[in-house]
Amino acid sequence: MDLFDFRGGREGYYGEYGGTFLPEILHTTIEQLKVEFRNAKEDPEFWNEFVQLLQSYSGRPTPITHLPNLSARLGGAQIYIKREDLNHTGSHKINNVMGQGLLVKRMGKTRVIAETGAGQHGYATATMAARFGFDSKIYMGAVDVARQRPNVFWMENMGSEVISVTDGQQTLKDAINECLRDWVTNMDNTHYVLGTACGPHPFPEMVSWFQSIIGHEAREQIVVESGKLPDRVFACVGGGSNAIGLFQGFMDDNKVQLVGCEAGGFGPGKGNHAARLAYKDASVGVAQGMKTYFLQNDDGNMLETHSVAAGLDYIGVNPVLVHLWEQQRVRFEAVTDSEVTEALKICMTTEGIIPALESAHGFAQAIKEAEQMKRDEVVLINMSGRGDKDIFTIADAIGDNHWKQFIKHKADGYNSEA
Ligand SMILES: *Cc1c(COP(=O)(O)O)cnc(C)c1O
Repeated sequence: MDLFDFRGGREGYYGEYGGTFLPEILHTTIEQLKVEFRNAKEDPEFWNEFVQLLQSYSGRPTPITHLPNLSARLGGAQIYIKREDLNHTGSHKINNVMGQGLLVKRMGKTRVIAETGAGQHGYATATMAARFGFDSKIYMGAVDVARQRPNVFWMENMGSEVISVTDGQQTLKDAINECLRDWVTNMDNTHYVLGTACGPHPFPEMVSWFQSIIGHEAREQIVVESGKLPDRVFACVGGGSNAIGLFQGFMDDNKVQLVGCEAGGFGPGKGNHAARLAYKDASVGVAQGMKTYFLQNDDGNMLETHSVAAGLDYIGVNPVLVHLWEQQRVRFEAVTDSEVTEALKICMTTEGIIPALESAHGFAQAIKEAEQMKRDEVVLINMSGRGDKDIFTIADAIGDNHWKQFIKHKADGYNSEA
């Protein structure tokens, strides 16, 4: 099944979701992007160049790792993980930004812009811009700039200009608005690097295509490693790019259950979480260039969201996944912050691995289900990123206060040297 074969349907739509909802002024730019993307997708040389770049720059193919200790401890299914954490910059985000970088080169543009909340996508985009020699500007809410100092530091040192946005609530939504304003003004030489499989067509399709490298590798590897296809595949869902990336490898394997794991935060109840589909608090709307499910109130104003994982803390969700959910091809589950903390602890102590807080949502759900499965069954989890970036949040969640003293000690040290 080709999810993106629009013959006989409306291009850019998945069921009734998706579309291109943008101001008229961006029409020409988005058309140009669509044409260039189509040409690239039909050109096998482009995909080869993409794969070679990721091999030499980011260590692909990332391996699959069996977790024998965790599997034995749970006494159920055999657990395997796809190691996107081993990529350069620490997550799957590099796949998408390097792909878009190649496309920018093809379009003859010289400047990229991006918006970022947690800073991970900004960090990856700054990396790509440095490598390709593009000018780059990263938009970030002022609140996020303060919260994500380490990412801002690396972006600036790789040569990107980080713009601290002081409008509205000074978070991701405001950064998106500012970034769109820049795009409208500088379309001729500028490409907007979207970080997840959301936004106006062709972005959901384009980002899904670049991330499908995860699924294509994983399907081959799991058969070699475990001798069979997995029974269930788990991935966390923020905007939905790592999930759709992995799921595409198994789309035609109808016996393989696909499970999207959303941020349950504090649990059900509007404002407590970012679970668009697993909890029933979201509804269909049009925003940020696309028609999909959003966490919004009856007036269409977006709700506050909460998750311990900054990368899952988002109001909307990939329209392709919504369509697959309605067709019951993908199941959605929510995982709470406290379940995530428990999953992290067990992964660290039994296997010596540190999943990112986002990825730990997939681990938590898989752990719950694997316990109930048979020993000859196989589950595959996408380890979308590494947890190093989350050290302070994880320390806080497991109640370790030593780092606070460490930071105070450092601060005192700098003060006395100054
Ligand atoms: C950004 C991020 C996510 C969420 O984004 P998706 O588009 O849903 O994949 C998940 N895991 C990690 C490690 C991230 O950095």
